[in-house]
Amino acid sequence: MHKLAQLDQRYIWHPFTQMQEWLQREPIVIAEGRGAVLRDVSGREYLDANSSIWTNLHGHNHPTINAAIRQQLKKIAHSSALGLANEPASLLAEKLVQAANPSRAGGTPAPLTKVFFSDDGSTAMEVALKLAYEYARRTGRSKHPRFLSLQGAYHGDTVGAVSLGHIDLFHNAYRGLVFKTDTVASPYCYRCPFNRAKPERGDARDYRKCHWECVGLVAKKFETQKRKGNPYAAMVVEPLVQGAAGMIAQPQGWLRQVAEIARSHGAQLIADEVLTGFGRVGGVPCGSVGAWEREERQSVGASTLPRSHAPRSYAPTLFACHHEGVQPDFLALAKGMTGGYLPMAATLTTQAVFDAFLGDYAEFKTFFHGHSFTANQLGSAAALASLEILQSPASISARHKLEQTLRQELQTLWSVPQVGDIRQVGLVAGVELVRDWRTRAPFDLCERAGIRVCEAMARRGVLTRPIGNVVVLMPPYCTTQEQMGRMIAVLHEAIRETLTSQARSS
Ligand code: PMP
Repeated sequence: MHKLAQLDQRYIWHPFTQMQEWLQREPIVIAEGRGAVLRDVSGREYLDANSSIWTNLHGHNHPTINAAIRQQLKKIAHSSALGLANEPASLLAEKLVQAANPSRAGGTPAPLTKVFFSDDGSTAMEVALKLAYEYARRTGRSKHPRFLSLQGAYHGDTVGAVSLGHIDLFHNAYRGLVFKTDTVASPYCYRCPFNRAKPERGDARDYRKCHWECVGLVAKKFETQKRKGNPYAAMVVEPLVQGAAGMIAQPQGWLRQVAEIARSHGAQLIADEVLTGFGRVGGVPCGSVGAWEREERQSVGASTLPRSHAPRSYAPTLFACHHEGVQPDFLALAKGMTGGYLPMAATLTTQAVFDAFLGDYAEFKTFFHGHSFTANQLGSAAALASLEILQSPASISARHKLEQTLRQELQTLWSVPQVGDIRQVGLVAGVELVRDWRTRAPFDLCERAGIRVCEAMARRGVLTRPIGNVVVLMPPYCTTQEQMGRMIAVLHEAIRETLTSQARSS
């Protein structure tokens, strides 16, 4: 075993990993990366098919981001934001505010004007949660602010974020430690109890037959809570696609309708764009947001809602909310913010929230929250460089092309009987594995179907991680057509090797 693998096994406790299994075989030790390729210490190459757990945007070792970090290093790596300002963080905050307020975003007239920096997705969500909580109390909306989040929600692993989470496997152990939040059905069309459509070889969002019962449930939840005399302070959503829930892709119009319900009850909207932000979900998928709204309004109440989730034209936007003209009160960003280089996060909010924390010193209205590395200069420099790349015509066009390539390649998987649903949103795809697509019968979690498929992919040089029975594909934006084709071909082979005989024998 390689010396570094030995050291790892002796000393490191890995996240979301059964260490008993980990200790049984030699781990892959990554030595370097370039573009979409990772190389291990023995020189073996792998495609980074989940962008290093959803963080990397433009590929590894990107010359522009490397140069920006080197430039910043010549000046300073870090100084505190407690009592001090700094150059790259100020510049970055301005750019984030500009990107977060495109002229097309509607829903609320309140723009996002203030940026609170932190370290990762969990802390970005903690900040949003604490600000929303205190804002509701200070404005007299609620003495005991209550939050609504979605079934299968995952917003991070710190205690506040876990309170918003509703994945039993991850969160049940900590129920005694966290505060209570309410949950409502997420629009999981493939396994929706209200969807009367028989399984087809297509994205369940496109062939579903329903009456938007999931939206009705959200409305009911708000009504019930209002009747209890303590209306929700805020609703928390991952817009367009719920990542750790299993890449649950929302049908077009769900977000807009739910945001309207929350607004009509005076609740704030917390958008967790830790995964979806920075172009990950593609461009705005049609001529105008208004056109969507008309389409959705006409179809509400219809028993069949045919949809194509393939973009008809492509306008670059960096955030998922803006795809449906929704402007949140809190926008949590992390992962891809630095291009996936450094741990840095941001929570954007409105002037109204900011103002609720203003006062004389002795009023103690200060937001008593912060982290040692808040507004770190190296992270800010990387993020500024990443934003510049993201907004360049070359990157916009490459993302658009890659999204189309991914869409085409995914089509080939419909021939596999163990592929039940394929959910693509921009440059995110979840492939749900089942015993047989005709019955939607799931594999038991203990069968480790997703894990075994991903292990077979790794043996063939493609790295990703599953969520239960869902294999995630999330390529870096620099992935070539050939590399994209290889990721899908390897997934195809891995399913055949791993699941074909098993599905037949059971
Ligand atoms: N929110 C979402 C939507 C996420 O996907 C994640 C991480 N997968 C988090 C929050 C937590 O982010 P982090 O791991 O950076 O704390």
